[in-house]
Amino acid sequence: MRFDELAANLDQMEGTKSRNELVRILSDVYRAASAGELAPITYPIQGRLAPFFEPVEVGLGERLLMTAIAAAYGVPKEEVVKLNRQTGDLGVTAQRLARPPEHESPSVVDVHSWLTGIAGASGPGSQQQKLANFTALLSNLDATSAKHLVRITLGKMRLGIGDPTVLDALSFAKKGDRSLRPVLEGAYNRTSDLGLIARTLWESGEQGLDALKVTAGHPLRPQLAERLPNPEAVIKKLGMVGVQPKYDGLRVQIHKAGDEVSIFSRNLESWTEAFPELVAAASGLKVESVILDGEAIAYNPESEEYVPFQETTARRRKEGVQQFANQAPLRAFVFDVMFRDGTDLTQLPYERRFEIAQEVLRRSDTLLTAPLTKTDSAEQLTKELLDNISRGLEGVVAKRLDSPYQAGARNFNWVKLKRNTSGRLNDTIDVVLLGYYLGKGKRAEFGAGALLAGVYDADTDEFVTISKLGTGLSDQGWRDIHQRLSSLEVPVKPPRVRSNFVPDVWLKPALVVEVLADEITPSPRHTAGMTADRPGFALRFPRIVSLRTADKKPEDATTVREIQEMFEQQKQRGST
Ligand code: ATP
Repeated sequence: MRFDELAANLDQMEGTKSRNELVRILSDVYRAASAGELAPITYPIQGRLAPFFEPVEVGLGERLLMTAIAAAYGVPKEEVVKLNRQTGDLGVTAQRLARPPEHESPSVVDVHSWLTGIAGASGPGSQQQKLANFTALLSNLDATSAKHLVRITLGKMRLGIGDPTVLDALSFAKKGDRSLRPVLEGAYNRTSDLGLIARTLWESGEQGLDALKVTAGHPLRPQLAERLPNPEAVIKKLGMVGVQPKYDGLRVQIHKAGDEVSIFSRNLESWTEAFPELVAAASGLKVESVILDGEAIAYNPESEEYVPFQETTARRRKEGVQQFANQAPLRAFVFDVMFRDGTDLTQLPYERRFEIAQEVLRRSDTLLTAPLTKTDSAEQLTKELLDNISRGLEGVVAKRLDSPYQAGARNFNWVKLKRNTSGRLNDTIDVVLLGYYLGKGKRAEFGAGALLAGVYDADTDEFVTISKLGTGLSDQGWRDIHQRLSSLEVPVKPPRVRSNFVPDVWLKPALVVEVLADEITPSPRHTAGMTADRPGFALRFPRIVSLRTADKKPEDATTVREIQEMFEQQKQRGST
């Protein structure tokens, strides 16, 4: 497949307003692709060169790309800068300046390997080399291809093709319907690598997908926790449970594969560089290979206190890592093990996995097993919950002792119990920003008035609206948020957004915000949970608590199903 053919399809996808249409176009692309082309198509359409968990970056920022555009098209750089100020999108800037190429378009495989080569360049003089190679590539492309190449390089695809859309498109390409979704999803939950999955499906069919196993070095999607309203409900539903403190840190998946250690966040990004203490501790474990699941928390050795989540994630900024590691070293409370010495442990009962975690971590003082108490008494569970809250923790997680580790599933294998604030919702909701209104008065000065927010409908892979947000941020907070929003603005409603509201400015669904609300109420206008015979849901008195950009993708936001369950639980609380 030539790159200009892919680019023309990306343009079509950009023009569509419906998600079904998006899936159809993408499945046509896949149908026309050979096995070797699948990875070079799949990663770039998501603005990547490799799976999400591999930290491969082209390493050319906006400024250098402007230099490359100027050189490729023989125009002064000032002209590129000026035009870019008008368009606000470097891809469009390149498209406007592009000249017809002299040769036929390179193939998708060529473009992908060319960019991968640029990404791999390092050492003295590599910046110049990167720039020269990128310029050469750009001058060989037509205008539409140039637009998409620049966006891929910046990792800023306007489309926001989510992983479920790719899985649907693969199923349609092979079967003409969604029937392959379950087997594709299983493979995806175990490997998190869409390029690998696509290639395996083409080369070895469904059996090949089944044979893709959990492997050290390859993150699996995390098991997630359900909610129940109180300890009584937990014991009634699960019987005997293992109870652990709920730490408010950063979810980490720690992999050791021979001498290689890697650490992944909840959304499976690589955070290896940010956590040298955890890497050192994992390297020292007496195992050939292992995958651990836990919560990392920075602590202050002087005050012996744990540091809040936001400070733990500040590590992502590379500069201060070592300083952070000295001042507030990390510990990880490990609560699960999914793989050891070549063996997949996910099907073992939790109780056994926990024993293995204890064996593996026996001698480490950085990787500690989270304490586990067993109980089938609601009184005992209540006591644990209150004890943990009084120690400054978020609450507890209760786990079924006989449950397997179900990658990617949110189910009652794990149930989180948090502090209950006097009948109000006792959990925050993670919403995705979908648009904003131009503010009036003081708000206009910050650039944005109310924000239109939605949750994720996992059944249809769409974002549906649930609230408008106007409070919870300081003046500076509004300015910061608006700055982040400016790169997400899109001219029309994105295909995966379902909304009855039309904000002044639409946003690509990307930014996840944690919100606290008093109540979930039925709503005739919001589309969250709305069907032909049922109204949608809205949030009453929503206020922004924090940005969850560090560890959540838009598809990791709260789902419609969770909102529905929270609404049911709220009704139960109201009637007791
Ligand atoms: P979720 O991860 O469920 O989407 P979230 O990130 O907002 O939601 P919570 O809903 O508050 O987090 O709770 C689940 C998270 O709690 C886990 O993802 C994990 O990061 C954290 N956690 C802390 N302690 C534990 C523990 N002992 N067992 C499991 N998870 C724990």
